[in-house]
Amino acid sequence: MKRLIFSGILAITLLAGCTPGPKAEPTHTVLRGATLFDGNGGTIANSTVIIRDGRIEALGGADLEVPENAEVIDLAGKYITPGLVDAHVHFSQTGFFDGRPDALDIRDSLPFDSVQARQRRNPDRYFETYLRSGVTAVYDVGGFDWTLDLQKSAEDDLDAPHVAASGPLLTPFPQDRLDGFNVLPARQMLALDSEEFGREYVQRNTALGSTGIKIWSLNLKDTVFMKSLNAVAAEVREQGNQLIVHATSLDQAKEGLRLGAKVLVHSVDDQPVDEEFLQLARANGAVYCPTLVVVPGYTIAYRSIQGDFPMNDPNQVVDADTRNLVEASESFFKYVPEPENYPAMLKASEQADETLKAAMYANLMKVYEAGIPIALSTDAGNPGTLHGISVYDELEAMQRAGIPAKDLIGMATRSGALAMRRLDDFGTLEPGKMADLIVLDKDPSADAAHFRSITHVMRGGLLRPVDVAFEK
Ligand SMILES: [Zn+2]
Repeated sequence: MKRLIFSGILAITLLAGCTPGPKAEPTHTVLRGATLFDGNGGTIANSTVIIRDGRIEALGGADLEVPENAEVIDLAGKYITPGLVDAHVHFSQTGFFDGRPDALDIRDSLPFDSVQARQRRNPDRYFETYLRSGVTAVYDVGGFDWTLDLQKSAEDDLDAPHVAASGPLLTPFPQDRLDGFNVLPARQMLALDSEEFGREYVQRNTALGSTGIKIWSLNLKDTVFMKSLNAVAAEVREQGNQLIVHATSLDQAKEGLRLGAKVLVHSVDDQPVDEEFLQLARANGAVYCPTLVVVPGYTIAYRSIQGDFPMNDPNQVVDADTRNLVEASESFFKYVPEPENYPAMLKASEQADETLKAAMYANLMKVYEAGIPIALSTDAGNPGTLHGISVYDELEAMQRAGIPAKDLIGMATRSGALAMRRLDDFGTLEPGKMADLIVLDKDPSADAAHFRSITHVMRGGLLRPVDVAFEK
């Protein structure tokens, strides 16, 4: 962990007009002059943010008194929001097909066990990508046991976002159909086939520190599974953990909510959400995670194997491994099982995306109008949805669905912290909270695309430009 708070070089790279630094080591950092969005819906023009020991000590307008021994950074004309939170990611996945052999089997080139060994060995290659995308916290909602360890290791590391993780997923599918996702004896997908196993699993994962118990799809007709799921839900309550549910059909999502789900990790996309759904979500205080970009992301990845993988990454924040992998996407066309059907498959995939999009956008607006918390969430790690930079695509998609940019700010910050159960620590800018924030050139309340104008990220009081690699 580095704590080179405000080196001289950094202060110069920020903006001219900084007051000369005091001779003694500054006790405070002060950000002055930006228009600040606090994540709770509040705005402060010409703001003053006083930061000490990694936390916000005070926050106000231009008249807020600045401590004597402070480093003052002039951000006039800029914009500040809390650090972004991506409420749905997977550190066990790469952003390409090597992490999802079920979508395209490229294991002859990139064996799954080697891919997973690298994911485990080097999750920090994504940490910098996240921070330099402005993402200061992520929720890993499904992966191998090692993802649980990231919660502690990343917490005190200013080179990493805060991490919450659920660990392995429980599913209604039989274990032999799941082991393609596993590296035995380690499993990230588990068949939930008995009450006893379900209860033990919840106890074990809670003891390992999991934030959430994730159910990957509900089979409402499978009585053994549903009985086991009821036992899981009871044990989750008992353990004080939270139930998080992947349910893209309305019936499944409602059943998940009846069982107490606190986080719905995807949109409902099979039919319009109804009043009962909205009431259940409201009663649970559930967070809705739309993940609008992940399904079209698969189409992007499929298209890339006969062309280019599109990447909008002007600050070069994507790690070199990922960049090399997706730049070589054409070399994987040989793995398409029926190449003669590839154009038709691509077309069908694009059409399916459009149908889903219409359903997801309409439901998102219903959930929004009902006042249910909605969290920025990408499902990063799936093919075509890269870690970090996908947050901008998701925010723009949420805006296209009809959510005003000014309301997206809280969804991109506060709601994710709520889903991670970390709102006391971050997600909004308030005295006492961690100094996690981003600096933008353009007003994010005017257009969600302006999140792309990020210039700096602050994690735990450490402010750094996003267009240069972190010093190691
Ligand atoms: Zn996911």
